[in-house]
Amino acid sequence: MATDDCIFCKIVNREIPTEFLYENDRLVVFKDINPLAPIHLLLVPKEHIRGINDIADGEWDIVTELVMTAKDMAAKMSVDKSGYRLFFNVEKGGGQEVFHLHLHLIGGWE
Ligand code: 5GP
Ligand code: ZN
Repeated sequence: MATDDCIFCKIVNREIPTEFLYENDRLVVFKDINPLAPIHLLLVPKEHIRGINDIADGEWDIVTELVMTAKDMAAKMSVDKSGYRLFFNVEKGGGQEVFHLHLHLIGGWE
């Protein structure tokens, strides 16, 4: 898929207005439009990478940064102590619908 057609590239490039809960040079964090839990955030690299299967040998640092940022966001959203779930869906059979790498953070259940 060309990045022109990628909805997360459009969000990263601010072509689709979306509130960022966090942003740095390499990633953004925003709320999932169709939340599966009271808290549902998406952590998205600014670079277009299709998914976990497509990360090149020199690119794995972004995965560490996504997970570390998720841990910080869980604290910011006050779900660090109650607990939360982090997951990547990989390809269609794994539930991936947006083919731009992203880490889900869900939590906030009673
Ligand atoms: P996937 O199934 O690919 O792992 O997750 C894609 C997620 O992106 C879904 O949970 C879906 O609700 C969310 N999503 C799709 N389009 C948009 C959008 O335009 N804005 C936001 N905030 N989330 C989106
Ligand atoms: Zn993209």
